[in-house]
Amino acid sequence: MTVALVWLRDDDLRCADNPALALGASSAEAVVPVFAWPPGRASGRAPGAAARWWLHHSLAALEAELAERGSRLVLRHGPVAAELVAVATACRARLVVWNRPHTPPARRLRDDLVGRLAECGIEGRETGSGLLHDPDALRTSAGGPWKVFTPFWKALRRTLEPVEPVAGADPLPAPARWPASCRLEEFALLPRVRWDEGLEDCWTPGRSGALARLERFLEHGLARYRDERDRPAAEAVSRLSPHLRFGEIGAREVWHAVRRHQAREGLADEVVEPFLRQLAWREFGAHLLYHFPHTIDEPLDRRFGSFPWRHDEAALAAWSRGRTGYPIVDAGMRELWRTGWMHNRVRMIVASLLTRHLLIPWQAGARWFEDTLVDADPGNNTLGWQWTAGCGADAAPYFRVFNPVLQGRRFDPDGAYVRRWVPEIAALPDRFVHEPWAAPDEVRKKAKVVLGETYPAPVIEHPAGRRRALAAWESWRAGLGDRGKVAGGAS
Ligand SMILES: Cc1cc2nc3c(=O)[nH]c(=O)nc-3n(C[C@H](O)[C@H](O)[C@H](O)COP(=O)(O)OP(=O)(O)OC[C@H]3O[C@@H](n4cnc5c(N)ncnc54)[C@H](O)[C@@H]3O)c2cc1C
Repeated sequence: MTVALVWLRDDDLRCADNPALALGASSAEAVVPVFAWPPGRASGRAPGAAARWWLHHSLAALEAELAERGSRLVLRHGPVAAELVAVATACRARLVVWNRPHTPPARRLRDDLVGRLAECGIEGRETGSGLLHDPDALRTSAGGPWKVFTPFWKALRRTLEPVEPVAGADPLPAPARWPASCRLEEFALLPRVRWDEGLEDCWTPGRSGALARLERFLEHGLARYRDERDRPAAEAVSRLSPHLRFGEIGAREVWHAVRRHQAREGLADEVVEPFLRQLAWREFGAHLLYHFPHTIDEPLDRRFGSFPWRHDEAALAAWSRGRTGYPIVDAGMRELWRTGWMHNRVRMIVASLLTRHLLIPWQAGARWFEDTLVDADPGNNTLGWQWTAGCGADAAPYFRVFNPVLQGRRFDPDGAYVRRWVPEIAALPDRFVHEPWAAPDEVRKKAKVVLGETYPAPVIEHPAGRRRALAAWESWRAGLGDRGKVAGGAS
């Protein structure tokens, strides 16, 4: 019996529309799906605490999904390439297949595996991925990678629609004897001290949770998405990000499900495309990280290496804990802590406060997000943080410093979002709920808000923070001389 080993990573945890599983099933008489996890806190960019919680439950769900197809998930605890070769040898597999990795850590693992397979004379084959298009397929007319989103999106739209997803083999042909597998608990992905109740209340990791989210979004969110997607209280976004991050559902599946729904309901392109465009932002994040792997730690615009960032532990702690005194920021940071997720508009506002008003390096914010987001994704997180800090592709110009009060009023006009996550100011009238310090004493007293006691005063006042941010930018730009001419503008 010929056997193909399929290496599954933490971003392709699904059976349907999984090119590697499909290739394995069509190339051999039996398929052995394997997930390997390195011991300890794995080197490089290991998933943070919230993502590890998700991974545990996602792997459990995948075990069940494979069992329904008459297969299993072989789990191995040890150095990834060595474990995969050991399993391939144990089950006499002549072929190992995997989906093409795009992130720097996964590409390093792949390179290691390729070397070891060659030493053992085992064939290794790489196939498609969960992206809409391969990052090498979309190029500028000069043949280079894209650095600006709009032409990237146009190029993506010009190419044919992404290929249709495939259902995948069912049943998945099983080997005569299964190789040894460890128990999922040995990976120790769950927290020792229980802080994860909030995550449990909000999420169902795994394929069935992903499909349910998609279904709900198509029925209740998609038609409102264009107009309400920036309102954090509106529940008009899909919340598919962690499911996409762990590959429980592929971007092609989501894309085509949206198109089918559009045809069924007769929705106009203008209604549906704003959502597809966000899927393309995800694609753009993967594209950038693939072509500029150093950006996971360093700015794409390398001149920002000399930017005068401040190191302020107290301010960073106030930000992380949702105690900045800006209600919209604090609401976002508390939502993140409790649920492992934050609305996109609010991510932009909190990241702006950290990198502009507080001048704290974007990497500090990115690390906090990495540890607390269930959807922490190397491509999207790097893109989001570098965009906000002004040092990435298509970055927000540095002189545009979000005013957290105006942002709050505009996107949470009745304060519903802020009241939910910052209950200690919930009794303030709408007018003051985004700026408690501006309320007259008697209004604050009636609402039982005592600044500095029940709720903090702003960590820095907006006009002062804005002035400081612009002064830092101007002096840095002046120091760059001629090299500073376009700094801060869109690339
Ligand atoms: C500072 C910052 C950090 C971020 N970090 C992450 C991260 O670690 N992981 C992550 O998945 N997203 C990240 N984002 C992007 C975005 O905030 C989330 O993808 C989005 O909020 C997820 O919610 P949703 O699934 O309801 O999105 P929807 O609006 O329903 O969009 C559908 C999908 O499109 C993709 N998408 C949407 N917006 C963006 C965007 N701006 N950039 C890239 N992809 C997008 C996501 O995969 C999302 O699930 C970050 C944004 C910022 C500003």
